[in-house]
Amino acid sequence: MSESIENLQEYFKQLRLAEAASELPKLLRKAEQASWTYREFVQEIVQFELLKREEKSREKRMKWAKFPYLKTVNEFDLSDQTSLSQRQLNQLEEMSWLEQQYNLILLGPPGVGKTHLAIALGIEAIQKGFQVVFVPMGELITLLKTREYTRKSQVQLNRIEASDLVIIDDLMYMAMDQREANLFFHLINHLYERCSLILTSNKSPDQWGELLGDDGITTAILDRLLHRVEIIQMNEDSYRMKHRQTMF
Ligand code: ADP
Ligand code: MG
Repeated sequence: MSESIENLQEYFKQLRLAEAASELPKLLRKAEQASWTYREFVQEIVQFELLKREEKSREKRMKWAKFPYLKTVNEFDLSDQTSLSQRQLNQLEEMSWLEQQYNLILLGPPGVGKTHLAIALGIEAIQKGFQVVFVPMGELITLLKTREYTRKSQVQLNRIEASDLVIIDDLMYMAMDQREANLFFHLINHLYERCSLILTSNKSPDQWGELLGDDGITTAILDRLLHRVEIIQMNEDSYRMKHRQTMF
């Protein structure tokens, strides 16, 4: 005896195939119209479920990432960037550095596209199935300092510690006191060899010591950050300055 479509949908749901359940009437209609074989029909059902799940998981990962805005690699104009070739950009986009847990450090003065490129690579990583999180340095320090008593900070730091790629934007833009430098060191130590980092900064690593204060901590942090790293110096004239809208 054949069951009603509603009953079949209920069985699908019990089997945790919610996406296929809601699509079932449409798939049945298509199967009849196009005279799918049994094999084709089964294939269409499972592929639909998998595709929808992947879409949802990508959306979830995009939310989790907390990008301040969205910029893509395609929107990144290389014509003014002598420091980065198309081939290098393609290599970065392929994400083998992330699979091998390399860090990226993007250096250069304000406006050269460090944050843009970091976000764009973060989005690529999400497309490839990785978990990514973006955090500005100032916010990260606040999170670390309030971790013990703020639930929200705990949640966000747990996310950071569970990601495959952590983007820390504007690293070392301000001096840190001893406690802040210590907290930062412990985080880096924890993330070390668990995930990849993209760090953006307008100060080069040899200047970071001044801002971290303590020589011991500086050496320990640099040791971990620079162990497996690709440093990209983006020193061209500011894109923002060149393309700014002027009134005159
Ligand atoms: P930085 O983080 O280095 O200070 P941003 O990434 O914030 O610079 O870039 C400033 C603005 O200029 C952003 O709107 C960014 O999209 C744009 N921009 C910078 N460099 C490029 C580039 N090479 N191609 C396209 N847009 C760029
Ligand atoms: Mg920036």
